[in-house]
Amino acid sequence: MELTTEFTFEEQHHIKNEFKRLKGTTYLDSAGSVLYGENQLKNVCDLLTHNFYPNPHTSKTSENLIDQVRLRILKHFHVNNYDDYTVIFTSNCTNGLKIVGETFQFDDNGSFYYQSDSHTSVLGLREIVNTKDIIPLSRNFFKEDCALETMKNSLIAFPAQCNFNGYKFPLKIIEKIHLGDNNYVLLDAAAYASSNDLDLNLCKADYVTVSFYKIFGYPTGLGALIVSKRGAEKLKKKYYGGGTVKIALTRENWHQKRDNLHEIYEDGTIPFLEIISLQSSFNYMENLLGDSFMKRISRHVFNLAKYFYVHLKSMKHYNNEDVAVLYHDTSFEDITTQSGIVNFNLKHANGSFIGFAEFASIAALHNLIVRTGCFCNPGSCQTFLNLTNEDLLKHFNAGHVCGDDNDLVDNIPTGSIRVSFGYMNDKVDAETVLDIIRKCYVQTEESSLDKTSAIKESESKNVKPVLQSIRIFPIKSCGPMIINKEWKITESGLQYDRNWMIINGDNGSALTQKHETKMCLIRPFVDETNNTLRLEFPYMDSIEIPLNTKGEEIRSASVCQTKVCGDYINGHDCGQQVAEWLSNALAINNLRLIRQNAEGKERKSGKIALANQAQFLLINKASVQWLMDQVEIWDYNKDVDNVIDRFRGNFVIENIEALTENSWKKIKIGESTFEVQGLCTRCQMICIDQSTGEKTAEPLRTIGKIFQGKTKFGIYLRLPFGLKEDCSNLVIKCGDEIVDISE
Ligand SMILES: *Cc1c(COP(=O)(O)O)cnc(C)c1O
Repeated sequence: MELTTEFTFEEQHHIKNEFKRLKGTTYLDSAGSVLYGENQLKNVCDLLTHNFYPNPHTSKTSENLIDQVRLRILKHFHVNNYDDYTVIFTSNCTNGLKIVGETFQFDDNGSFYYQSDSHTSVLGLREIVNTKDIIPLSRNFFKEDCALETMKNSLIAFPAQCNFNGYKFPLKIIEKIHLGDNNYVLLDAAAYASSNDLDLNLCKADYVTVSFYKIFGYPTGLGALIVSKRGAEKLKKKYYGGGTVKIALTRENWHQKRDNLHEIYEDGTIPFLEIISLQSSFNYMENLLGDSFMKRISRHVFNLAKYFYVHLKSMKHYNNEDVAVLYHDTSFEDITTQSGIVNFNLKHANGSFIGFAEFASIAALHNLIVRTGCFCNPGSCQTFLNLTNEDLLKHFNAGHVCGDDNDLVDNIPTGSIRVSFGYMNDKVDAETVLDIIRKCYVQTEESSLDKTSAIKESESKNVKPVLQSIRIFPIKSCGPMIINKEWKITESGLQYDRNWMIINGDNGSALTQKHETKMCLIRPFVDETNNTLRLEFPYMDSIEIPLNTKGEEIRSASVCQTKVCGDYINGHDCGQQVAEWLSNALAINNLRLIRQNAEGKERKSGKIALANQAQFLLINKASVQWLMDQVEIWDYNKDVDNVIDRFRGNFVIENIEALTENSWKKIKIGESTFEVQGLCTRCQMICIDQSTGEKTAEPLRTIGKIFQGKTKFGIYLRLPFGLKEDCSNLVIKCGDEIVDISE
């Protein structure tokens, strides 16, 4: 299938120039948020730097400009007679929906109808509407427009476009709803308006809600509730605040609200600078793509999504089984029913599902941004993934909640993958995703896994299981220091493990290997005799810093708050020299090395250093070897030590059957007791060759396949809870025997 192009060659060139900052990233989440163009922001910046705008309650100029923006918005939605509709500024679409939910006056025996595959922002209205009669409507109800005539005195809420798969609901149904007695339509247009031309002249919804970041990418925190003249009469509001009131007596409870609808509903000071900036966004889009930019964007994203859909749908494994299951109402034949979103899950050749969280890891590895999960739309998930209420409760009880990585329960997906196109995307973006799927998931020949996956016994059965080596990662996300003798254990983990971290001096965020793969080439060496930490990097002179950075010679970092796994960690800056060395090595400006302040951080799981999850990670060499045997197509160095390195474990054990460790609850290594905290959920880090910094699809792909999509490998250990004794004498030695002491 060939792609139909909407934008001219020249236009495509201009668009490319607006998004230079994406560099190698493929952005396919326009349904989550459209990206703003470079010139769009420059225009905003010019507007705000060359003018000044006081509070609209102070300045008539500001107020007038804001009213002009209201008219510009109405024009955008094809309202010809400005008396027909009023624009109320809100903080986002959700806020607009909530206002209607709170203030809509139901007549006696009036009902609230809602489309059950709506966004959670609509579902939440069930809790606040002023009627007890609350009725869900299926997708098919709208397609067949059945039983409309029975509705009366009702508010009917539905999305103009489903944010799950881009299905466009038939808007002509609004006319039919209005034929019923005293019915009102609340149209959630957040998804639709982001890439479609919404014509309120044709579809006369009474309440329409949008978020502007979904249309322009900027500003955030601004939406609109657009209310028809007849709709306005049904709303009654109690609260007032700021300029929404004409008079309010303070010693007696009496007030009079303003006359204009938007004056009544916009409590407090509206985000006037953001509203004024909207004008720049409209101008920018018109300059780039002409007056009817929305119609053109709509065709552009439809064409791209169709192209992607057709190619993904025809992708096959060697045995002619489909690679993808697509979740759609349409086959992309008609632009009036389908927008630029493709929603799917992937499958192995044997028919088992690939978890969306695993795909998310692979996507991140390839700098691809897509959304996975249920997209705040549990109804659509339930409809398309064929889940019963019992399934949902079972998933919930198995620990799955919205937004987590629990992607498969008994090999049934709890969510899916959503690719959504925007005006900044082109054919290359669609091809990029198709290539990733081909490279990582399409099986070209029969695999041993499709038959059985017997676990191989370790060859040397009579030898005792022992600790082969210890690894510490002094600087988080950098290379290991491998220890073949012994090492001290502190109450937060192995001594010096993840005690340092590299942060971006500009914003204080921690650097991670996921994004900066070359970090693994920084090799740290702790030398206690000389009290130094030496850092090496290929083709550079090494550098040494004192192990103890708490002395006076070390100044405190100006940016000492840094985010690790949602925690803020204080650190001492390790000085200018090492900062420059790191910036040179990684070719990133303004990096700083910081040393963790306190000995460790108190968590409910015990003290831990800057490590990601737990105090220690144990990796069984035989399991790694076993895993390697399962990998069919080697796209990387086939050396077991190279692969062990990728798992970044602290303890590597040998002489034990593969995967035995997965059933342990408690073990002894030499004299020390450890509790097992659980299996380690693998992320894309294991796809980085630690000796070169190169990215490969394996072994994450194979792990996902073997463990039914649960990308878990290796076990987390911690010191026993309530360990009272002083740990200062705890030492762990290579060659120590491993004993399973689970009860
Ligand atoms: C995004 C979206 C919302 C919520 O928008 P907010 O900006 O988060 O308030 C509601 N409904 C649909 C269909 C959406 O796509």
